[in-house]
Amino acid sequence: MKVWVDRNICDNHGQCAIAAPDNFSLDADGVLQYKEDFPDADLEYIEDAMDVCPVQAIFLKGEQ
Ligand code: SF4
Repeated sequence: MKVWVDRNICDNHGQCAIAAPDNFSLDADGVLQYKEDFPDADLEYIEDAMDVCPVQAIFLKGEQ
């Protein structure tokens, strides 16, 4: 499956990196980095990240 972050609304606060650290992280400059592809087994963590994102910037690809 694939996930997508709208960088126009992401505020780089990193809550997603706490919920799904295998997929989301902040780099040394505090900018969100993420992997688009993730295994189906990680969907619950991706959904947690979507839930905790304060600006709802995370989407499953194709569901925007
Ligand atoms: S939680 Fe949302 S706003 Fe914060 S870094 Fe992740 S995608 Fe961006």
